[in-house]
Amino acid sequence: MKIPTLFVSHGAPSLALEGGPSRDFLVSLAGRLAGPRAIVCVSAHWETPVAMVGLAAHPETIHDFYGFQQELYRMRYPAAGDPALGARVMHLLGDAGIEVTGDDKRGFDHGVWSPLTLIYPKAEIPVVEISVQPGLNAAHHLRIGQVLAPLRDEGVLIMGSGSTTHNLREIGRTGPDGGPPEYYASFEKWVCDAIMERRVADLADFERLAPHARRNHPSPEHFLPLFAPLGAAGESSKPTILNRHFELGTLSMAAFLWE
Ligand code: ZN
Repeated sequence: MKIPTLFVSHGAPSLALEGGPSRDFLVSLAGRLAGPRAIVCVSAHWETPVAMVGLAAHPETIHDFYGFQQELYRMRYPAAGDPALGARVMHLLGDAGIEVTGDDKRGFDHGVWSPLTLIYPKAEIPVVEISVQPGLNAAHHLRIGQVLAPLRDEGVLIMGSGSTTHNLREIGRTGPDGGPPEYYASFEKWVCDAIMERRVADLADFERLAPHARRNHPSPEHFLPLFAPLGAAGESSKPTILNRHFELGTLSMAAFLWE
């Protein structure tokens, strides 16, 4: 049985502590995603020039943010790594001609542990993290997903953790009706429509085709994790919008599942 693929917007680091619809949504997800034997997660918070794969057997929890509640810095996500699966990921990527390096020291950044603390609070599923390459394009990240697709038949959840919109300079702004400003709402709608209409090539060309793309993503690292689960889903998977909600005015918490 093929495991679905998943993209989540991880919001602010404090998501793991603070209540709200997006937190409730992530807590409810486990019921829908029961049963992967391992997770491969592409995170916006590990940026490297070439693809890197976490190979630590017991990755540390990295608190890669500043100025949040003390409680957040005490949180740990004790899921194991899976060096054998990490090595397999490296082989699959390498065989496809994608340059890749392993890192046996890398821990879990909050792009990984913040949503997973809510989805799988028992941390019983091993996790392998993959970096994003902001210097390479969406097509490269799509290819990573396509190459890793066979893992879906082996009980592996291929997941991306980023943000559907991400411009920290405009956090807190709202439109006249109190909802997100039009230039954020229209981008998020374009992304949701393209996903539901399976316009994968359009999504990969988002910087040219999506309205206000540069304003929504002044840098691409939070959008690129979308493309691994999208690529791994392939053309026959059915897309679903799991969550559609803005936090802090401009931060879309949209999440997508392909099954
Ligand atoms: Zn982030």
